Amino acid sequence: MKKQNQAQSDKSLPTQAGYSEKAMRDLSTVEFMIRLYCRKKHRSKDGLCEECRELYEYVGQRRMHCPFGDKKTFCSNCKIQCYKPSMKEKIRVVMKYSGPRLLFYNPKLVLAHVRETVKLKRVSRKTERKKAEK
Ligand SMILES: [Zn+2]
Repeated sequence: MKKQNQAQSDKSLPTQAGYSEKAMRDLSTVEFMIRLYCRKKHRSKDGLCEECRELYEYVGQRRMHCPFGDKKTFCSNCKIQCYKPSMKEKIRVVMKYSGPRLLFYNPKLVLAHVRETVKLKRVSRKTERKKAEK
């Protein structure tokens, strides 16, 4: 008997219970980006190196405690204001590297993100207009 489960769990990153579906999707985007970055920049063959794993876990934590909850998205929509400076810098570098490459590796994901961004902008414009009317 082979220990198939063990090999699998080595690859997947820890996910905390209590995430919404949206949060899980956001996180998997970030995971994808960090993975890409780690593989190319840190030469990680499988999974993430210590540093990138820490970054991913930090991102997950922040997402979990974000007051905006599901209204918030990563990257451009989120201004990562709640990140501590060292993590902010790290994720910025990762996004800068992986962002453009994401389009190549996973265009569906990018499209979904763009759609979401447009939607969010429209909503915020609407609420601003409402405020102005009052
Ligand atoms: Zn790494």
